Amino acid sequence: MAFKDIIGHKGVINLLKSYIKEERVHHTYLFVGPKGVGKTTVALNFAKALNCENLTPDTEPLEPCDKCRSCRAIDEGYHPDVRVVSLPMEALRKEINAMLDVCEKTEPRFEEALKTLKMIFSFKLEPLFELIQDEFPSETKKEVRGGIRNIRKLFENSSIEATSSQNKLIIEQIKTGLKELSEQLPEKRELGIEVIKAIRQSAYSSAIWGGWKVYIIGKAEVLTREAGDALLKVLEEPPERCIFILLAPNVGDIPPTIVSRSHIIKFHSVEKEEISHFLREKYAIDKDLAYALASLSEGRPGFAIKIAKDEKLKKARENTLRLLMDMPLNPDYSLRAAERFSEIASQIEEGEDKDKIQRCLLFASSFFRDLLILQLAGNSSLLINYDKKKSLERIHKNYSLDFLHSALSALQRTYRLLQPGLNFEEQLCLEVMFLDMLGGR
Ligand SMILES: [Zn+2]
Repeated sequence: MAFKDIIGHKGVINLLKSYIKEERVHHTYLFVGPKGVGKTTVALNFAKALNCENLTPDTEPLEPCDKCRSCRAIDEGYHPDVRVVSLPMEALRKEINAMLDVCEKTEPRFEEALKTLKMIFSFKLEPLFELIQDEFPSETKKEVRGGIRNIRKLFENSSIEATSSQNKLIIEQIKTGLKELSEQLPEKRELGIEVIKAIRQSAYSSAIWGGWKVYIIGKAEVLTREAGDALLKVLEEPPERCIFILLAPNVGDIPPTIVSRSHIIKFHSVEKEEISHFLREKYAIDKDLAYALASLSEGRPGFAIKIAKDEKLKKARENTLRLLMDMPLNPDYSLRAAERFSEIASQIEEGEDKDKIQRCLLFASSFFRDLLILQLAGNSSLLINYDKKKSLERIHKNYSLDFLHSALSALQRTYRLLQPGLNFEEQLCLEVMFLDMLGGR
């Protein structure tokens, strides 16, 4: 992917290109904007343009080539000088899931799958664990280390002459090992000092491939105070040809001392039409669904793409909408509805339980918001779930305005209660929510 393929953000991209052209690249950038709007994508492309082997400041148009060793390595996440740092446990979980995905799609090319698995394991998962191992509580750390060692042994025991059934067996064992590993990962939602220490260590050494070192720090808003202070020290004495790009939702989420050292770049939401056009072109999805996902994303292409690409997430949306459409408006149904709701959420693959429920809560909010729009404005062009237009038009009269308002506020309240870091029990929150919704009629 090059700059020209990015959805929206033309102003930001031109600005970044001008820094490269005029050779005045800043040391620290702070990209602010909502999650999924495209900050990481733009940051990675900036890193690509800085390091592309076929690009000089006066190349026109200034676009990374997407073909050289550096561009390809950044796309695949293997560039030794370009690092995306985010919540370490989430990152580790992501690599485990990526490997599990490969395990699912092996037939009939077991040998090839094993190669891919080995690549992810040795270039991503293992180094990541080395980097963040101090983030684990000591008991878990031992177990996770053991689990990783066992998987490494499986790779070592595999041989190039192995038959396809031998390879299949090894993949099965790797899969079991990965699942166990995944269960041992603690839930940790902050960016700790260890990660910044590791960055500091590598930032002052010279670039391995001789270009720019780029550290993209996702979720900079969850830096612990200690980590923030350590990062500030690096930013105060910036290493040569090294840039830091911090990503956060708002400027206010970052300590002022860091903000004052950063060059702030704001990301605005992208036009609905632009996102929906992209989804149709790239993922060949139906026009109405593309429009629905674009509306649901509220101007964040990343969010829309995620649903478009993820079958399980798409299904969770379908099922949530179906549950609400078919739900008898009767308090007796609350418990059953709550159970079904968490069942649907649990089928989503990525994220912690609370994240999954929150996604479904957003789907549910969009449903009631649509009914409200039909009641108040009677205009279906404003619908979010545009692909369900017919059903929504058919049923909207079954709901009173009071019901819709109270349903939306029950959903919002539950969404707030299930924020990470708050210890409310999910099932109970859902039961109360449906009881409020169905009893408050
Ligand atoms: Zn290139």
